[in-house]
Amino acid sequence: MREIESEYITVKMGKQKQIALIAHDSKKREMVDWVYENRDILKNHFLCGTGTTARLLAMKTGLPVREYKSGPLGGDQQIGSRIVEGAIDFMVFFWDPLEAQPHDPDVKALLRVSVLYDIPVANNIATANFLLTSKYMSEEYTRKITQYQRTSEEMLNKFLED
Ligand code: PGA
Repeated sequence: MREIESEYITVKMGKQKQIALIAHDSKKREMVDWVYENRDILKNHFLCGTGTTARLLAMKTGLPVREYKSGPLGGDQQIGSRIVEGAIDFMVFFWDPLEAQPHDPDVKALLRVSVLYDIPVANNIATANFLLTSKYMSEEYTRKITQYQRTSEEMLNKFLED
């Protein structure tokens, strides 16, 4: 039986974080206010977001925010794929808890990969404030990503033994 050395692979985040910002329509004002209040911290990091959120933030706060497609047009999926590639390591996602979205499956998929890739995620203002004042915001941090290879290897061995 082949041994897999580690259960995790690790990914180091630099001191400057790649931060994704997403807000559903009813939450965009909260997002703009939160980013504006925290612009002195956020200006030290790289920001990106789904289309409308990113454009609104850039206009209202003056910070550079890289723009992906609008959420309902695939922007959540683009951000999810950037997380998988290791290009985003922190997310603030104010989703609407009171309204179904046309792209609910994309929202769920994005939240799923953020858990899988051990990304810090804030879904409301309180969590965003706690995260942003964490000591890790100005330090390197090593994320641990479950190594699926191990699971598939174990499954393979299990089937071979049967
Ligand atoms: P938007 O997308 O920033 O383009 O409005 C947000 C979302 O609905 O995911």
